[in-house]
Amino acid sequence: MIDKPIETVMRQSKRDILIPADLVATVNEDNNLQHAFLVLTKVKYAKIPVLDNNNHFKGLISLSMITEQMLLDTGITTRPLDSMKIKEIMQKDVPTIYERENLEVILRHLVNENFIPYVDHDNKFLGIITRRELFKEINFLAHNFSKRYVALPVYHEKTVSQSAAQ
Ligand code: AMP
Repeated sequence: MIDKPIETVMRQSKRDILIPADLVATVNEDNNLQHAFLVLTKVKYAKIPVLDNNNHFKGLISLSMITEQMLLDTGITTRPLDSMKIKEIMQKDVPTIYERENLEVILRHLVNENFIPYVDHDNKFLGIITRRELFKEINFLAHNFSKRYVALPVYHEKTVSQSAAQ
């Protein structure tokens, strides 16, 4: 569990760590790989969300997933870019969150992922929470904790470990 004072100060920053869906670059699962290739190249993000026609979150697509399909033993081909759909190769086992208030879960996910998609209970895509946005919160915490709390060292810790060793 996150210590209550830490969570309280992080929440006081008033910043929203969510990048809302309308500001996130996405592609449709039925688009071909050429479309995804162009979007990824233009937006310069490593990985972006894939949605269906009703804005449900379906997976993630990256440039490397696409270039993987272009590799032949003899070289590189662009043929799959036209013929394959994004849904055929996208990453589907993607963790999502639907409780944006749950800092503990967000922190746990962002240890392993650069961002986490935020969805509603119907899996509709609402946005993403990125490591960068979370780091801004941690930066706020680091600079503001002592304005709101008095942190004292836990002197008894040494005594506890010493007595355990005895
Ligand atoms: P950042 O922490 O800002 O570097 O973002 C981490 C990752 O989140 C990026 O590499 C992208 O995969 C994704 N991302 C961040 N912002 C956007 C956006 N506006 N649209 C699509 N993907 C994004």
